[in-house]
Amino acid sequence: MPAVKRIPERKCCGCGESGPGKDMIRIVRTPEGDVIVDDTGKKNGRGAYICRNESCVAKAEKKNSIGRSLKADTPGTLYEELRKRCKGD
Ligand SMILES: [Zn+2]
Repeated sequence: MPAVKRIPERKCCGCGESGPGKDMIRIVRTPEGDVIVDDTGKKNGRGAYICRNESCVAKAEKKNSIGRSLKADTPGTLYEELRKRCKGD
């Protein structure tokens, strides 16, 4: 086995850019199969990340990239929740 150290990647589901997790929103698929916004960043489950801006949320919604990343169905309300967390100005 090659000793490859896996660095957790925080890749945006919208624009595809990798960045520091602190500016990104975490979305998690819980062990029960629900896809929710993880405001604590500490929930167990498979995680996906997205930039905190509306264009990335819109792109992710269009491509269903969160659902594909998490291999789960994403409820429409998820995107509303994400938009609420975007920087508004
Ligand atoms: Zn992005």
